[in-house]
Amino acid sequence: MLTCARCSKTIPEGQEIRVIGRSKRSPATILCQNCAEIVENKWQAETENPNLLGAVSLALGAGGIIAVVWYLAVTWINHELGLIAVVTGWLIAQAAMLGSGRKRGRAVQITSAVITLLVILLNEYLVLRYFLIVELKADPSSVPILLPVDLLQFLWYGIKLQPLNLLFWAIGLYLAFVIPTSRQLQRSTPKG
Ligand SMILES: [Zn+2]
Repeated sequence: MLTCARCSKTIPEGQEIRVIGRSKRSPATILCQNCAEIVENKWQAETENPNLLGAVSLALGAGGIIAVVWYLAVTWINHELGLIAVVTGWLIAQAAMLGSGRKRGRAVQITSAVITLLVILLNEYLVLRYFLIVELKADPSSVPILLPVDLLQFLWYGIKLQPLNLLFWAIGLYLAFVIPTSRQLQRSTPKG
């Protein structure tokens, strides 16, 4: 006799829904038809009417805090911290989902990824500016926030200096985009 993994009720022979795990190796979860429907409805509702203003606001807020902490950490240890890009993507995805009203789906994914990209680029710019000041032994207050440089060239220079950062940025962006993906029950047998 099979029991439902969610409500623990016994399921009549042949009525169970097998849900495939995330990886191919993990065993299938057994659900009764009632619970499968409840989970599916819940996950469907997660993609409906996300509060995008909330998602953008909270993600920007989180991004602002991360940018400040990241920059201060770099100036503190006097070394680049590209790995923080990975954490940034994860955190901003959480903030975007929370701000959207605990929703998921394409719009939340894009919000999360775009704001993660902005934070990464902003940090890269500020870090390069910081190391330029160190290099020139300049008085930080005498260097304008916005340097009169070609930003793309400046970034390219940063990438050549620290190519591994590109990998961290890619992972961060990937997480930011993938974490708010809508969820779907992967049934191993057709419905009904
Ligand atoms: Zn059940």
